[in-house]
Amino acid sequence: MALQADPERKRRIGIFGGAFDPPHAAHIALVRAAVTDLNLDEMRVIPTGNAWHKARPLSPASHRLAMARLAFGELPRVVVDARETERAGPSYTIDTLTELQALWPDAELFLFLGEDQARALPSWRAWQQILQLAIIYVAERGDWRRSKPGFMAPKLYESRFRHLTMPPIPVSATDIRARVAARQDPLPLVSQSVAHYIDHHHLYQTT
Ligand code: ATP
Repeated sequence: MALQADPERKRRIGIFGGAFDPPHAAHIALVRAAVTDLNLDEMRVIPTGNAWHKARPLSPASHRLAMARLAFGELPRVVVDARETERAGPSYTIDTLTELQALWPDAELFLFLGEDQARALPSWRAWQQILQLAIIYVAERGDWRRSKPGFMAPKLYESRFRHLTMPPIPVSATDIRARVAARQDPLPLVSQSVAHYIDHHHLYQTT
């Protein structure tokens, strides 16, 4: 007998934001783990527009969006969402979550963060409201060279945090940009298509 879809089951939407300058192997591993382990109906990968929290200027959004489409576009149930790059002013996660909740009022929203971003969350605009709108899944960073203790959820909000299980992958976009600037091959830390894009557009030639 064919299994019936559960009509009571809420849609499960993942949200993964980032500079993706460039998108790399750990980002892809995180997205794959999230979609599979949480049985997501859809994972929205959302390149940031104007990143208020990054000290360095980012590459133009058009490049980061194009690379995100190359890196994530073929993954099942993944949608690369341009909304933050199209919005004027700084990209705030609360605005994005509010928009997505309006789109799917009955869905469960899951926000995915690496542990560095999870640690910084209390400095984000309306962060308590973010915790009301979404469950936060935190991924360990394999490139965490600094001797920081593991991420601890704020006591009051512990129930809103979960751990995303994925193998720690020691890679960061900073390392990749440095490799390219040093004329080293970014493969296999980025996909073939992203490596080709970087080369074709002469990105990251200087640090
Ligand atoms: P940069 O080195 O330029 O700061 P990044 O490698 O941290 O970039 P981002 O695009 O800023 O990449 O990160 C997007 C999201 O992916 C963030 O939540 C970040 O914590 C997470 N992330 C990045 N690298 C890893 C990694 N190696 N393991 C787990 N999560 C990661």
